This record gives sequence, C-alpha cells and structure tokens, in this order.
Amino acid sequence: MDNCLFCKIARGDIPSRKVYEDDDVFAFHDINPARPVHLLVIPRRHITSLATVTEADTPVLGRILAVANQLATENGSPDGFRVIINTGRIGHQEVQHLHAHVVGGPDPVGPMLKRV
Ligand code: 5GP
Ligand code: ZN
Repeated sequence: MDNCLFCKIARGDIPSRKVYEDDDVFAFHDINPARPVHLLVIPRRHITSLATVTEADTPVLGRILAVANQLATENGSPDGFRVIINTGRIGHQEVQHLHAHVVGGPDPVGPMLKRV
C-alpha cells in the first residue's frame, strides 16, 4: 500500500520511535500518547482492519498479541496493560492499517468505557 501511513512507518519511509520489529510485526510509540505508555503494534504487511482479516492473517494477529506483553514490560508497564484495536467507523478507527494500541504505565488506566 503505497499511500498508507503505517505501511510507510513500517518501511521506514516516515520516521517513528520504534520499539520492536521482526519479519511480521513492527511496533512504535504513538505520536499522541493517551497514557504514559502508549505503543502501536502493527503487521508489516498491510491489513486494513479487524473487519478485513482472513484465515491467512491468524498467525500475525497472534504475534501482535504475543509481543504486546513483552513490549509493555520493557517500556514501563510491567504490571499489566490494555490492548485496544479500534475497528471501522463504529470503533472510531482513524488509521486504516490494523494496529493494536498497548496502553499502560505506573497507574491503572481506568474503567474500560464510560457506560451509556
Ligand atoms: P486509531 O484511532 O486509528 O485507533 O488510532 C490511530 C493512532 O495513530 C492515534 O492514537 C494517533 O495518535 C496515532 N498516529 C497517527 N499518526 C501517527 C504518526 O504519524 N506517527 C505515530 N507514531 N502515531 C500516529
Ligand atoms: Zn498499510
């Protein structure tokens, strides 16, 4: 995907504060952190969202979750964290390349959602 922001970040065409990479996964600090620890973990290969995944994407989805714990621990959230994957219009997904937010820090991140 030539024109995808997170593809460009994974390729290194746009700079980011990288915290991890392997053949399948790339992770970096969110540019506008919502908590003291706020990482984004993405597949290197373009996947638009959880709404478009296929069976072939299952291994990389597993990798994303598996590295989340390691990255949270290494980056200042050793006592737990939250993973959020916003999906589509209802999920308020702004960047159309699947990404897992890993948020945490020294203090609890608070209730999951405000109840309506
Ligand atoms: P979404 O709302 O799609 O789940 O989250 C997109 C996230 O990407 C936001 O938290 C936003 O701050 C982050 N973001 C957007 N553009 C950039 C960028 O150029 N670099 C980095 N590191 N994060 C970005
Ligand atoms: Zn992309």
